[in-house]
Amino acid sequence: MRIDVVSIFPSYFDGLTLSLLGRARENGLLDLHVHDLRDWTSDRHRTVDDTPYGGGAGMVMKPEPWGLALDELAGSSRPTIIFPSPAGEVFRQSTAREFAEHDHLIIGCGRYEGIDERVFEYAATLGEVRLVSLGDYVLNGGEVAAMAMIEAIGRLVPGVVGNPESLVEESHEDGLLEYGSYTKPSTWRDREVPGVLLSGNHAAIAAWRREQQIERTRARRPDLLSD
Ligand code: SAM
Repeated sequence: MRIDVVSIFPSYFDGLTLSLLGRARENGLLDLHVHDLRDWTSDRHRTVDDTPYGGGAGMVMKPEPWGLALDELAGSSRPTIIFPSPAGEVFRQSTAREFAEHDHLIIGCGRYEGIDERVFEYAATLGEVRLVSLGDYVLNGGEVAAMAMIEAIGRLVPGVVGNPESLVEESHEDGLLEYGSYTKPSTWRDREVPGVLLSGNHAAIAAWRREQQIERTRARRPDLLSD
């Protein structure tokens, strides 16, 4: 899978050299390229923003650098072009799974008041465009959202997570939150590990875990049960 990220703060993504994704990049499972949007500017100040038509606070990202960046990065591959946006569809595990099937993703990180709206229309001539929100709150820029998405998508690429079993038993994989996990020691500061987990009875453990999943989903995320 190839992922191209465009940002005015490329060093945000330095952390993606670490841990599982860092190893996946070294092993060639994940071909991640981070680009500076300012490389597609041509003025002395490398300007990427300007005042909004119609007035209002803040600045808007100019369309031209974005057009040039997308032309160069999309080529003829018909990529999926993701723009993180609080006004987009909410990113879910199912979205991550869908994107993990794609060969080429481009992620365009907005800043300021966002990107000139015509960029999204133009991008749709180059590939599939998705405006994707991390949740119902506003970040300063798309970088943190892009990193979250890359991590969620990247770990679903076959081979990135060593034991594929561990992907199946996660929160949201079956529409429920995951059960609680415990490790040694069995008693810690007067708190005991639930006895059933020490019983060796696999059926009883599976039943207990399922019950936990339903209970905690009902308590913490009842919206998931009514979907
Ligand atoms: N004016 C925009 C609005 O109200 O929809 C918000 C702009 S925000 C300050 C700047 C950039 O942060 C956005 O272009 C987007 O890339 C990113 N961003 C902010 N909140 C986000 C969220 N919840 N999910 C994904 N990206 C977000």
